[in-house]
Amino acid sequence: MATRKTITIQPLGFEPAVEHAACELARYLPQLADVRARVMPALGALPNNVAADIVLGVSPYLDGLGLGSLPRPHDMDDALAIIPKRSTLYLTGSNGRSVLFAAYRLLEEFGAVFVRPGPHGDVLPRKKKNLALPGRPIREKASYRHRGVCIEGAPRLDHVLDILDWMAKKKMNAFQLQFRHSGEFWRRGYNDSPEVPPAARTSRLTDDECYELDDRVIERVKQLGLMLHRVGHGWTAFTVDLPGFDWGTYDLKPPKDKRSWLAQVKGKRQVWMGIPVDTELCYSNPAAREALINEVVTYATRHPEVDLLHFWMSDAFNNKCECADCRRMTPTDWYVMLVNEVAGRIQEQGLRTRIVFLGYFDLLWPPERERLRVDSATFMYAPISRCHTHSLTDPKCDEDYDVSRPRLNQVRLPRGNRPNADIARGWLPLKLPDTFLFDYHLGSRAFRDGLGSDIGSVMAQDVKDLASLGLNGLMSCQNIRCFYPFPYLPNAMADMLWNSRQSIAAHRRKIMSAAFGKHVREVESFFARTMRAFRVGPEYQHGTVSPTEAQRKRLTEIAAFAAAAQKRFTALRKAERSNVVRASLGLAALHAQHAALIARAYLAALDGNKKAITRMRADYEARFPKVLREFAGLMDPGVGHWVRHAFNIAERQVDAAAS
Ligand SMILES: [Zn+2]
Ligand SMILES: [Zn+2]
Repeated sequence: MATRKTITIQPLGFEPAVEHAACELARYLPQLADVRARVMPALGALPNNVAADIVLGVSPYLDGLGLGSLPRPHDMDDALAIIPKRSTLYLTGSNGRSVLFAAYRLLEEFGAVFVRPGPHGDVLPRKKKNLALPGRPIREKASYRHRGVCIEGAPRLDHVLDILDWMAKKKMNAFQLQFRHSGEFWRRGYNDSPEVPPAARTSRLTDDECYELDDRVIERVKQLGLMLHRVGHGWTAFTVDLPGFDWGTYDLKPPKDKRSWLAQVKGKRQVWMGIPVDTELCYSNPAAREALINEVVTYATRHPEVDLLHFWMSDAFNNKCECADCRRMTPTDWYVMLVNEVAGRIQEQGLRTRIVFLGYFDLLWPPERERLRVDSATFMYAPISRCHTHSLTDPKCDEDYDVSRPRLNQVRLPRGNRPNADIARGWLPLKLPDTFLFDYHLGSRAFRDGLGSDIGSVMAQDVKDLASLGLNGLMSCQNIRCFYPFPYLPNAMADMLWNSRQSIAAHRRKIMSAAFGKHVREVESFFARTMRAFRVGPEYQHGTVSPTEAQRKRLTEIAAFAAAAQKRFTALRKAERSNVVRASLGLAALHAQHAALIARAYLAALDGNKKAITRMRADYEARFPKVLREFAGLMDPGVGHWVRHAFNIAERQVDAAAS
């Protein structure tokens, strides 16, 4: 029997992420070559004569070994090094998770591509006889500090755990659980998602069950050494004893003694549209201010697991207090004043928790008088109304919009990217200590990728440009199941955040080739054709196909070529042996089907054929749960959004023509 070499792996120190890195190498290396791998028990220091093939540890453990420059230890900034010396390979980083990143970087050096989470995600090179460890050092540091995902969509626990594992492989470093618990999203995944059995819909997750799910996520976040972000909206509601767990409407009022704390809008102090989370307070009222500050500080002291605590105001706009005292300052000035107080008191408690505050809605504009006086607060800019067909710094994506601060409660959100970027630049003179972009490429817009927008290339360019807007990274507010239609978009996010200097085209080739194997050209040409076909008129008019006679020919063409592509991808998938490529082709076929359905629905509208639309809709909905189950972890139920949207438009058009 041939002797198989055994690779010994020695972890140093007791960070969970370092331990995990050792286990991951032991799991992957035997898949890459004909070797065994053995993880030694972790040591608190490196012995004089190292016998291991691979040694892993944060940089201070490797001082004095003559390994050249090592990553400087840092809680937030990630850097890694892979250094061969004599017969040992040293994997190190600026913190525990960076050592884990070094392990995955080593696997990438061997040719691995982590296309997506789960069993249909790893593309590994053909297994070799021997494993040749790198002969030259690799030293990398992240282009941006913040590289995170914030929970949205309709996930279940395994989807979140899987994306966390994938994020670590892609060197992403932060995860945000929204609200006090993330039941808003868990309930969509466990109770409302069309693929769950009807029985699951009747017994909704309790608050306790939602907290337990959050805890399981936190456990994995800590194991991977990622930064944990929590909460966001809801503080203003809890301050007046109302539920701030979700965006729900409640028939509730604050207790009598706290009603004067509500913002006064058009003469009235009341819960905004019945939605506690959308309700603002009267910040010139010292009692209201103190209660709000107390709410956040108390939470921080009870939740030391949180690394970055998001202190956001309401999730609505033009709802700020109009009382004479509040009018003395802009809403952002009141907000910054509160942030200073909250962050200061948390520091006084000896906690390391950072506070995240956001530029969003009425708070997009920088303060006029107040200045941030603490270094433990992080600013995030959230241009929710921006265009995702163009990059954020594209000045030609414009509109008639004056970027100076609007009058109180007279905000019209900017849709063009020129104003959105200009307002972001308005924060530059404040020289804030820590910043990131909070953005929505991987929300429902992603399901329209290819249908007139190339959101992946917008993402890649946006990440490259973050530094020019003074933003040190991205928190992506996104569907957890985000790998429809193509894996390129989430990969562009992760890889560009790690190394923003790489070529967009070369990176796209790498990811799409890994995902589609020898079919990559065919899929890319379909994508390019769909992109062109769905766009109507000049680039910056943002037109897309619609049910008009002028577009009948174009719609007929789309219906034909997309249906042909669906058939072709389905056939290729049947003949394909690689699980990864099969999943890619399955999702591409579904995308082609969606494109064809939109075109056919519009054609039916032009023909006044409501029956045809109704039938298409019924067929689609009948098949949808099965399709979702087939691609369970990869695609959110929201993928059907634009198809249903097209059915709605088509039906309305027929109705309007008939009346
Ligand atoms: Zn007021
Ligand atoms: Zn645009």
